[in-house]
Amino acid sequence: MPVTTQAYAAFSPDQPLSSWTFERRAPRADDVSIDILYCGVCHSDLHFARDDWGFSSYPVVPGHEIVGRVTSVGSDVSHYQVGDVVGVGCMVDSCRHCSACHDGLEQYCQEGFTMTYGSPDRHDQSLTQGGYSRHVVVSERFVVRMPEGIDLQGAAPILCAGITTYSPLRHHGVGPGHKVGVIGMGGLGHMGVKLARALGAEVTLFTRSEGKREEALAQGADHVVISTDEAQMEAVAGRFDFMLDTIPVQHDLNPYLNALGHDGTHILVGLLEPIDPPINAANLLMKRRVVAGSLIGGMAETQEVLEFCAKHDIACDVEMIKIDQINEAFERMEKGDVKYRFVIDMQASFP
Ligand code: NDP
Ligand code: ZN
Repeated sequence: MPVTTQAYAAFSPDQPLSSWTFERRAPRADDVSIDILYCGVCHSDLHFARDDWGFSSYPVVPGHEIVGRVTSVGSDVSHYQVGDVVGVGCMVDSCRHCSACHDGLEQYCQEGFTMTYGSPDRHDQSLTQGGYSRHVVVSERFVVRMPEGIDLQGAAPILCAGITTYSPLRHHGVGPGHKVGVIGMGGLGHMGVKLARALGAEVTLFTRSEGKREEALAQGADHVVISTDEAQMEAVAGRFDFMLDTIPVQHDLNPYLNALGHDGTHILVGLLEPIDPPINAANLLMKRRVVAGSLIGGMAETQEVLEFCAKHDIACDVEMIKIDQINEAFERMEKGDVKYRFVIDMQASFP
């Protein structure tokens, strides 16, 4: 039976989110039904609600940092039981048979993965809807287990902000002896700082916000560079092995490339638009530098980063809100005024 669920949705790019009640699809044999406890607020939710990327569909219930409790399982479900505390991140399906899916890289599925919200369901073409809601129904293949004892509020953002920063750090082999710059201290950036540090790298935060300096140092950054200060940027020229760039809007990459040493890699995770202003090719050629990108992480790696965070006692710094504060939260996020992730308490929001 389909389940009626309360939610908050965006109905157009320029209207605030508002209350919406809709029906979740009837669970299938491989589905897990989840009562949502917490959902993080990612900048991607804001981009999608406002149609910044030009492929949004409406109405859309954003939210892809979902933690909840299993309320029922389909007859084919083998990994989860009623009562388990589980997570759902940015994907809810993929083709499951291409080489990328086979390699545990479902985010690079050759047929395109199914996003947690705003994607057509692969079976019935209905649009998926995300975690700013009370319930969700997801195939067990795209569900992860929350580690025993982990703080669930602080762990919800690991499902996007955590895995998105962990995956490229792991892929590029970041570890002891490496100097890593993390650019932008928001949801992704502050997790990038903590994770790079836990992986053994020397970490420098690049921020526009002097006010974030002390907290960055407390969170594990070894150094802080104010990115708007040209003298500070010039002073670190040629120093870094990796840059993890979480800035959500177009920006000049050249000063950051200049901070990389030879063979340094600039990893874009925040930007989906064309790079503008253009990269000066000399900034690449003269030092054999690389510009790379990375998208979230696969399901197995998402489970891995949850275990990694539990082991290293890493949590997101969160500010808890109720769903009726979401529009104010979006406005504050846009101004960079969040320390460092809003997380919605769904039970308190929809008692
Ligand atoms: P936040 O808004 O939490 O943080 C972004 C940070 O970037 C801000 O705190 C600020 O840091 C800095 N920043 C913001 N605006 C500007 C600007 N105009 N110029 C320079 N710096 C700026 O966002 P999230 O961390 O949630 O997301 C970051 C980006 O990553 C978004 O675009 C999001 O869509 C994308 N994303 C990508 C994923 C992927 O798979 N690749 C997955 C999830 C998100 P400071 O004050 O320190 O300068
Ligand atoms: Zn996200």
